[in-house]
Amino acid sequence: MATRSDCVEEADAVVVGTGAGGGAIAAELAEGGLSVILLEEGGHYTTKDFGFDGPAMIRKLYRNAGTAVIRGTPNIIFSEGRCVGGSTVINGALSWRTPEKILQRWVWEQGLADLTPEKLEPFFAKVEERIHVAPQDPESLGEDVELLRLGAERLGHRYIPVQRSQKHCAGTNNCIFGCPTGAKQSTLVSYIPRALARGARLYPGCRAEKLLTKGARAIGIVGRFRDPETGQRGSQLTVHAKMVILAAGAIQTPLFLIKNRTANSSGQVGRNFLCHPNAKAIGIYDHDVLGWKGTIQGYQIREFLDEGIMMTTTMVPPGLLAMAMPYLGAESLAVMKDYNRMVAAGVLIEDTHAGRVSVDAFGEASMRYDFSPRDVATAIRGIALLSEVLFASGARRVLLPFAPLEHIDSPDEIPKLYRTLIRAADIESMTVHAMGTCRMGIDPRSSVVDPWGETHDVRGLYIADASIFPGPIGVNPQVTIMALATRVGAHLLAGC
Ligand SMILES: Cc1cc2nc3c(=O)[nH]c(=O)nc-3n(C[C@H](O)[C@H](O)[C@H](O)COP(=O)(O)OP(=O)(O)OC[C@H]3O[C@@H](n4cnc5c(N)ncnc54)[C@H](O)[C@@H]3O)c2cc1C
Ligand code: SF4
Repeated sequence: MATRSDCVEEADAVVVGTGAGGGAIAAELAEGGLSVILLEEGGHYTTKDFGFDGPAMIRKLYRNAGTAVIRGTPNIIFSEGRCVGGSTVINGALSWRTPEKILQRWVWEQGLADLTPEKLEPFFAKVEERIHVAPQDPESLGEDVELLRLGAERLGHRYIPVQRSQKHCAGTNNCIFGCPTGAKQSTLVSYIPRALARGARLYPGCRAEKLLTKGARAIGIVGRFRDPETGQRGSQLTVHAKMVILAAGAIQTPLFLIKNRTANSSGQVGRNFLCHPNAKAIGIYDHDVLGWKGTIQGYQIREFLDEGIMMTTTMVPPGLLAMAMPYLGAESLAVMKDYNRMVAAGVLIEDTHAGRVSVDAFGEASMRYDFSPRDVATAIRGIALLSEVLFASGARRVLLPFAPLEHIDSPDEIPKLYRTLIRAADIESMTVHAMGTCRMGIDPRSSVVDPWGETHDVRGLYIADASIFPGPIGVNPQVTIMALATRVGAHLLAGC
């Protein structure tokens, strides 16, 4: 029921979500001359609000205070942003174009003939310019990343310096709690200000709940204000718009569609859930590495990309690292005493199969993903290779993410990883990449959106976030999301 403070707005386009996809498409449309309204469930914090108090930042910036779990074997810890700027506010800013071999698969397997490197070039170039994709200033790199590089070099592995969306990053290693210097070019400080400068209206603390339709056409959104920190419900906002664009991320976008019982004649909404599971290993050195100084990543080891394995550093503040390890109480304290001598590193595993997002009994998202036997083998091989790199750079012990084998103390012990029975349930895993749950394709029977992001079933309803990935990509996804969202936006402008 409407209350006195409920309001009604009108615009050419309403965009749900302000992260990688929502920020990029909102700026594209507003700069193209359209009136745009942005709805964002999370709060609007700015650079001056970001600091080093991890628990406070997590409560403000993360969905479910960062505690979501993707159920399966093993359970996978999952984090995503919920604030103006979405996950880009808390991400590591690693920025890569979609690998060409992946685009070729999307063209061949999904019939997406326009997703070639040549046709995507202008969109990648525009994104890279907007979010300032650049190499790191050398002084922003810490010793942890140099040790990873040294290990790779000694073993002859191919590695590359990272490209990140940043301007003179100071290397404070606070990316996951919001960048306190404004160096990181999240959509909060890049695309959203561009959209606002061209008249876009932003409603933070407003969760889109209902899709408005007329026949088979989307005509708007009904949102509900809720205090992002207390959850207290407020008034309702109705936005009438010619174009409705969902960019709520690969978990919340399918949830919205499932709850609205729409755009799902294919039965594919929420399916094809890809998540790049990670497993980490921690090298312990004899000297102080002070890995918390310098940016989270400086190099990626790409020697084994064809096996679906990418390795890099993942040094995070001590509270978060302790949470990501299987120790409690005194045991955790004993391990964490070595924090200054640690190098945390991870293996990102390219998906070979998919999970599913559905709705639970409370109307919230339920995520399911199980490691296949091949994923287990890839995780073991990835951690074996990463251990070898850490030992090659001088680690005296490597802590492993496997319950039956917690650590090894020399490279000679690496074969133990293959002689110990390690099952899927024994692997500690986490992820921050969710993709694919409303996939793009030409066949309405097997995909949710067409090659221009419009849902096959509902005219005027578009998706412009990580949901529309037609398949796995194997690298950090934000540039791909932004490029696809920009491309959808350019298509909408061309039709106006
Ligand atoms: C800790 C972390 C580190 C990462 N590091 C990297 C990295 O280095 N490089 C990289 O490429 N990627 C990285 N990622 C992943 C990347 O940030 C995400 O893949 C990307 O931001 C997803 O874009 P999106 O538009 O799909 O969703 P998001 O960026 O998550 O944005 C979705 C937004 O929609 C809002 N929303 C959801 N539901 C509703 C609703 N019903 N109504 C209104 N608003 C809603 C959410 O609050 C959120 O703000 C990282 C992610 C995390 C969490
Ligand atoms: S490491 Fe760089 S980008 Fe990350 S929070 Fe610090 S200054 Fe910002």
